[in-house]
Amino acid sequence: MEPLLRGRFAPSPSGRMHLGNVFTALLAWLSVRAAGGTLVLRMEDLDPDRCREEYAQVLAEDLRWLGLDWDEGYQMGGPHGPYRQSERTELYAARFRQLEQMGLVYPCFCTRAERLAASAPHRGDGQILYSGRCRSLSPQEREELSRTRRSAWRLAVPDERVSFIDGHLGYYEEDLCRACGDFIIRRSDGVYAYQLAVVTDDGAMEINQVVRGQDLLDSTPRQILLYRLLGLPQPVFYHVPLLLAEDGRRLSKRDMDLDMGALRARYSPEQLVGKLAFLAGLSPTGEPVRPAELAADFSWSKVPERDVIVQTSMFGE
Ligand code: GLU
Repeated sequence: MEPLLRGRFAPSPSGRMHLGNVFTALLAWLSVRAAGGTLVLRMEDLDPDRCREEYAQVLAEDLRWLGLDWDEGYQMGGPHGPYRQSERTELYAARFRQLEQMGLVYPCFCTRAERLAASAPHRGDGQILYSGRCRSLSPQEREELSRTRRSAWRLAVPDERVSFIDGHLGYYEEDLCRACGDFIIRRSDGVYAYQLAVVTDDGAMEINQVVRGQDLLDSTPRQILLYRLLGLPQPVFYHVPLLLAEDGRRLSKRDMDLDMGALRARYSPEQLVGKLAFLAGLSPTGEPVRPAELAADFSWSKVPERDVIVQTSMFGE
């Protein structure tokens, strides 16, 4: 028997959701509902500087308003709680220790400026390719540096290519050493990094399908490495297209006119879902529709693979 599909939506409550976030949420919801699976809502509020409980509450309310419900998670509870990452630190600490015991974790004392200066040429997407400078420090050097600086913690990455089949995009591979190098799994302020937390949580919550934006496609090989090292089963990944403004910019929380506050003031849930369905290739006309009506003939083959341009006229007054 096929195991029950368990998907999740894992937003960061760092502000109001915008059109791109709800586009991803709709696709994560449809993919699970079309297969009769279970959907988990997890709040990724790891970063105390950016995330707030008020945002999480509004986010959950916006999802309900859209008609996107969930079976387990934030405000619902369930067997794999708590469902706020800020309350799951012990679990991340245990996974961190597991990697430490394998001899794969080392302290990094580099400042951001030093990391930038020492980084090898990278792909120009803003990601720093770490040179591995602190990997070879002697115990004495570590001891000395730790007197004046707090270290971050990095995972020593093996020299190999990691590949996977994306459920939506097909084959993807990356050479970890050349794409990112040894990556941070715990920041110098003690906060566990997204890569470690997301793998710990998807593993613990028995998630077997991950639907998320293509901005995270190049994080997936790092996460697959962590699944392997931690002995956790790897989910199937579906990376959905990003929504771009007409000038080619990625829509973000800065596009206030397309955040949920502005959208709710202008449209009914059905009108907004209709427009999202049009952008997702699931409705030829974009006419008002409820999410549940889209689930019956949802298919990933209809969803575009690459970035989707949002015509301003579609969201004009
Ligand atoms: N919390 C991440 C975000 O809001 C998503 C993480 C994921 O889906 O893996 O961008």
